[in-house]
Amino acid sequence: IRLCNDIIDEMHGAEIVAKAFTEELGIEFGQTTADGTITLERTACIGMSDQAPAAAVNEVIVTELSSDRAREIVAALRNHGDPRKLVKHVGDGNNAHPLVHAMVHNNIRKRGPVIFDGMEPGEALKRAVSATPAEVIRAMKTARLRGRGGAGFPTGMKWEFTRHSQAERRYVFCNADEGEPGTFKDRVILTECPDLLFEGMAIAGYAVGAKEGILYLRAEYTYLKRFLEHVLEERRGKGLLGKSICGKEGFDFDIRIQMGAGAYICGEETALISSAEGQRGDPKNRPPFPAQKGYLGYPTTVNNVETFCCAAKILQKGAAWFAELGSKGSTGTKLLSVSGDCSRPGVYELPFGISVKELLELVGAVQVGGPSGQLIGPEKFERTICYDDLATGGSIMVFNSQRPILWIVEKFLDFFVDESCGYCTPCRVGTLLLKEKIEELRAGKGEPEDIEYLRKLSETVKTTSRCGLGQTAANPVLSTLENFPSVYEEVVAPEPSGFRKSFDIHAALVEAQKVTGRKSVYF
Ligand code: SF4
Repeated sequence: IRLCNDIIDEMHGAEIVAKAFTEELGIEFGQTTADGTITLERTACIGMSDQAPAAAVNEVIVTELSSDRAREIVAALRNHGDPRKLVKHVGDGNNAHPLVHAMVHNNIRKRGPVIFDGMEPGEALKRAVSATPAEVIRAMKTARLRGRGGAGFPTGMKWEFTRHSQAERRYVFCNADEGEPGTFKDRVILTECPDLLFEGMAIAGYAVGAKEGILYLRAEYTYLKRFLEHVLEERRGKGLLGKSICGKEGFDFDIRIQMGAGAYICGEETALISSAEGQRGDPKNRPPFPAQKGYLGYPTTVNNVETFCCAAKILQKGAAWFAELGSKGSTGTKLLSVSGDCSRPGVYELPFGISVKELLELVGAVQVGGPSGQLIGPEKFERTICYDDLATGGSIMVFNSQRPILWIVEKFLDFFVDESCGYCTPCRVGTLLLKEKIEELRAGKGEPEDIEYLRKLSETVKTTSRCGLGQTAANPVLSTLENFPSVYEEVVAPEPSGFRKSFDIHAALVEAQKVTGRKSVYF
């Protein structure tokens, strides 16, 4: 049993659920029952923040847990030992498909014109093969499609680089390893729009000249694998995958699924490629970029789930149509996974350029982009969600004004400490030092100079880390220092007595007491 320990789950009572599991099983987290059948573990976000608290029992996802439900789960597992039987009511849409059979709910709150507007399988692909690969790439450029993973790199340019890299083989990768706490939109796309995704991958294959596409699926979504394989098989039957796709001589392309193993860092494209090659999921130095030298040393394009869906839609409805949606620098729509202190958590497809205020009816602090994004307060709710202002990979976490800011920062740093691959010192050590300092502040041991310490250390972690994880890990600290300065000023205010709060006289005298063999007297 792997219980999700992300901040949203904690806000929804994960600790009460954790207590029920430990009591009922008679073990602590990290331990296994004496009969060897059940191990209890904590895990980072499993992509269910809209129905937290959640856990994975083997590959079966159980959501909206309570202490009673936790006790029931343990009793049921002791009784029949079959996690699949824990699903008593299946969720909506394809969650009810026999090959999925999950209690997960889609929670699609707002359908937009790009992702959730439906499309006949093959419609976009037929248009793609009636054009040349160069024309398909040009359509991406005209639509000004940018990668939906957060960095926003122009998709047309990435495809062009891959196509123009000289090699006997090329690959297309779909990054379905969303692991940022609070992100779950890809889960809904994979459940409800797999054809749109596979269509986009095949179009990319045509554009870059690849024969193989690989869907790198996060381990937490293993419950979707059989269903996705079934969809791939159907597409092969319809001539939308395999040899001479849509009757186009020479256009051979197929897709296979490669499972991840639950590491957040494997969402970074070079780490993802390393992992798919069977190596440790470490990021690689760039250049060379994957478009030049990627999977097995061949040119590779890696795009996000949502990006491929947009690409298919651009072919179906036209680049000009797509470019009209959203804002000038951020065309199209964006899927947002909204969770936390809000009455309607779920997935929203909204045009880029929407303001935070428009998006949220609730007041409080808003974390845009998950832990690696920014924390903003009510005075900045006029800001807009787009690449040029608040860029996000899709995670919007809402915190009401009762949630302590430093607790939120500490939870996010916890995540980065845990998920850092450990390759480089600024990230491996810096995130831990940041977390320790925030813990001190929360324990009432803050000193005025701590603000400068946090600022400098954050800048060091940001500028000297090797990959995106470390480069964004300090964002919760930096953005709260900027947007909530009073929170810090309050905890580092000097003692009126002049004593230093960080100085612990008891701890300082332990050594002297040992040496002298005497007890100290305190006044
Ligand atoms: Fe690994 Fe962090 Fe360095 Fe990235 S920044 S390579 S995650 S240690």
